Amino acid sequence: MARYIGPACKLCRREGEKLMLKGERCLTPKCAFERRSYAPGEHGKTNQGRSDRQSDYARQLRAKQKARRVYGILERQFRRYFSVALRKRGMTGLNLLQTLETRLDNVVYRMGMAENRGQARQMVTHGHFVVNGRRTDIPSMVLKPGDVLEVREGSRATTLFKELPDLAAKRNCASWLDRDVKSLSGRVLRLPERAEIDGNLNEQLIVEYYSR
Ligand code: SF4
Repeated sequence: MARYIGPACKLCRREGEKLMLKGERCLTPKCAFERRSYAPGEHGKTNQGRSDRQSDYARQLRAKQKARRVYGILERQFRRYFSVALRKRGMTGLNLLQTLETRLDNVVYRMGMAENRGQARQMVTHGHFVVNGRRTDIPSMVLKPGDVLEVREGSRATTLFKELPDLAAKRNCASWLDRDVKSLSGRVLRLPERAEIDGNLNEQLIVEYYSR
């Protein structure tokens, strides 16, 4: 599946907030948003503050774009996730966020095995993970409660995975996941509740955007 390959920091500047797409760098003074907290492009600086006068449509569009960018998904696939969420029982917005959260690349990131979702995606596409005993390289694979994730035996000897237990131990693991940093494995305990999904996302505006 295609993915965005342009500069990540430009996306934060476009959305007017730090989306934390790069991991540790986002917390340092090197963060592009700290240095240039205005939108990219010729008129980015002059249009600063225009968000106060945004139309409903602009707010809905920005909410949708932000969610897409946080999870690193292109429009066509995001729209597909929305259609699936719409057909499911319950609240469409929450269904959508739960699907995004349970993508394999996001689960790897939420378990603290990657610095950011981009790195998690790359680790998955390089075939380093095994889900329920089967090797997979599909970052968009949606996991269910009870699914077990492990680092593939052959990947454990690489430098990246030798250092990973120490790195992962310093990172948080989402409360709806269980992980064992020593054995580099984990399990999905349940679907995340709304309060457990951070990122300052407004799913109601996304629903409104696609319901126009
Ligand atoms: Fe966004 Fe991180 Fe880049 Fe800062 S360093 S602009 S938070 S991706």
